[in-house]
Amino acid sequence: MLKIENLHANVDGTEILRGIDLEVKAGEIHAIMGPNGSGKSTLASVLAGREDYEVTDGKVTFDGADLLAMDVTERACAGLFLGFQYPVEIPGVSNLYMLRAAINARRNARGESEIDAMEFMQQVNEKIKHVDMNPDMAKRGVNEGFSGGEKKRNEVFQMLMLEPKLAILDETDSGLDIDALKTVANGINALRSPERATVLVTHYKRLLEHVVPDKVHVLAGGRIVRTGGIELADTLEESGYAGIEQADTQAQ
Ligand code: ADP
Ligand code: MG
Ligand code: MG
Repeated sequence: MLKIENLHANVDGTEILRGIDLEVKAGEIHAIMGPNGSGKSTLASVLAGREDYEVTDGKVTFDGADLLAMDVTERACAGLFLGFQYPVEIPGVSNLYMLRAAINARRNARGESEIDAMEFMQQVNEKIKHVDMNPDMAKRGVNEGFSGGEKKRNEVFQMLMLEPKLAILDETDSGLDIDALKTVANGINALRSPERATVLVTHYKRLLEHVVPDKVHVLAGGRIVRTGGIELADTLEESGYAGIEQADTQAQ
C-alpha cells in the first residue's frame, strides 16, 4: 500500500530525512518511534505534502501511484489521512461542514454522487460514540476552543468518518490522560481491516499497549535504524533511545 524508497528531504536547506525505506502492506499497523528531533514529524509532513518540505531524492508509492506527484487534495481523495501533533483550529468553519466537504470532495473525485444529509448525520451519530465526544462539539468550529484531549478525539472522529485507506497519525497520544488514550486506541482499532493500514508515529510506548502494531521502526538521525516487533518497543522503554543511538555509533 505504501512504499517509501530512499527518501531524502530538506527543511530550510538542512537535510532531515537521510534515506528512509519503509513498506506498509494493507491490513498492517506500523509504529514509528524515535527520539525528539529524529525526523518523525518531518516524515509525516512530507507524506502529507505540506509546504516547506523539499524532497531531494527517493520515491513514495501509494496504492501503486506516485504520491509525491500528488497535491494535498489529491492525496486525501486517494484515501490518505494525516493526523497531526498540533491540530489546527479553524474558527467559524464547523467540524461537520468540513467533514462533509471532505467526504464529498473524495466522492466527486471518484465520480460518485454526494452523500445525502440523512446518511451523513447517521454516520456522525454512530461514529461520534466511538470517541466518546459530545455531539455538540461536532457542530463547533474545527477544534475551536477544544482542549488537547478533545482535539485528539476529534481527530480520531474525523478519521472514522473519512474511513481512509491509510492513516498516518503523528503523536496522537501525546498529552492524553488514560481515558482519552483508550478512546483514541479504540478509534484506531475500529478502523483495523484487511483493506486499510495505519502508521502511528509515537515517542512513547503507551499507545502501543492498546493498539498492537505489526511492526515497530526506530527513526534516529533521519534514518530507520531498527525494525522489529512489539518487543522493540519494550526494549526502548527499558533502555531508552540513548542505548540504540550508542549501539549505532559503535557499529559505524
Ligand atoms: P520529531 O518529530 O522526530 O521530533 P521533527 O521532524 O519535528 O522531529 O524535526 C526533525 C528536525 O528537523 C529537528 O532538528 C527540527 O529542528 C528540524 N525541523 C523540523 N521542522 C522544521 C522547520 N519547519 N524549520 C526548521 N527546522 C525544522
Ligand atoms: Mg518533536
Ligand atoms: Mg514530532
